[in-house]
Amino acid sequence: MASILDDAVAKFKNNLKYYSEKDNSFSLTDFDLKSMTIPSKTISVNFPLKTSKGFKIFHAYRVHFNTERGPAKGGIRYHSKVDLDEVSALSLWMSLKNALMNLPYGGGKGGIEINPKEYSDQDIEKISREFVRQMHLIIGPETDIPAPDVYTNPQIMAWMSDEYNKIKGKKVPAAFTGKPISAGGSEARSYSTAMGGFYVLKKAAEEYKIPKNATIAIQGFGNAGRNFAEIASKQGYNIIAVSDSKGGIYNKDGLNIEKLIKHKRTQPVSTFPGKRISNEELLETDVDVLVPAALENVITEKNANKIKAKIILELANGPISEKADEILFKRKIIVLPDILANAGGVTVSYFEWLQNKKNQHWKETKVLKNLEERMSETFKILFNDYVQKFNVSFRIAAYAHAAKRIIKAKKKAEGCIE
Ligand code: GLU
Repeated sequence: MASILDDAVAKFKNNLKYYSEKDNSFSLTDFDLKSMTIPSKTISVNFPLKTSKGFKIFHAYRVHFNTERGPAKGGIRYHSKVDLDEVSALSLWMSLKNALMNLPYGGGKGGIEINPKEYSDQDIEKISREFVRQMHLIIGPETDIPAPDVYTNPQIMAWMSDEYNKIKGKKVPAAFTGKPISAGGSEARSYSTAMGGFYVLKKAAEEYKIPKNATIAIQGFGNAGRNFAEIASKQGYNIIAVSDSKGGIYNKDGLNIEKLIKHKRTQPVSTFPGKRISNEELLETDVDVLVPAALENVITEKNANKIKAKIILELANGPISEKADEILFKRKIIVLPDILANAGGVTVSYFEWLQNKKNQHWKETKVLKNLEERMSETFKILFNDYVQKFNVSFRIAAYAHAAKRIIKAKKKAEGCIE
């Protein structure tokens, strides 16, 4: 695969071009497009550290996009495949997601190139604290607010927040979100990505008459995939296939998710009773709803024609490549795009940031009510004002709506409009 950022930019530009052909009132100049798809800040650091595996050099990144709407906001990923290209693409998507959800933020994303499974908890703490020492000048509640992403979690956010407070000599809880509740975190943040995705599916189910016991396949059993499986199965959906990085498991009558979650605490999902399948087979399973909840570009031009799902709910960021996106659109498969489907995480991060700034702690019911309202309202805008009106995909709708907000903020900042 070529550059992830190039693919992300092509997907964004092509979808917007298609939209401008449908809606005469929408036009963007090349300059508008260029200014939206170029990072506003790129930081790349290398730091040596003594770990339990000896001296190692770590490569870490933080990238900002479109910060005219507010401070950069987005997670930090720990993964062996992290590089500047991936972090940049993820940061661009964060800027679109935050604009779409009308959160007062630009895009941000960070990452460390590391396989966290190879390191002890003490190592991870040391590495996380060092990341903050390297990046603290750009981090802050009004400049850049990190959060968890793939293979980072509330504990890591607690270490980072603690290190940041020590450097600043005061408590600044709003500089990080996704913290444990004891360290100023929000109720429901730990499962909010999945919950937000479920609310989006609920709205789509109403519009497209998806039955309550529809079948679902989930690729990825990390925070997003696991919580989504739990929420959806409790609501009566039939999860028939699940995978993690080591492979998948299939049962045509439905998997017992409660037991599978217990199993996963010590073993990969593929050793759970059922038929073993590969990650590729999982994506091609005959289901009503497919939920990619792992990494980017798992659906490409190679397998897009083999997808049998009627709906794809993108809980991962960027699981569908540019070419595959076109194929799925032509095949009339409904794609609920990442910047909508997984926006529950950053939306509750926003609630956490607000609570920290106001020194409040909201009840779980209040967080969930606010989350459902925001997810449903955004779905409704996209469905009514774009999908129905112009016969476009949800991705085109989401990109157009986000782009309008970003361009408006850029023009305002330049004094071009009131
Ligand atoms: N990493 C999550 C995402 O990709 C959450 C970001 C946040 O809470 O700031 O949306």
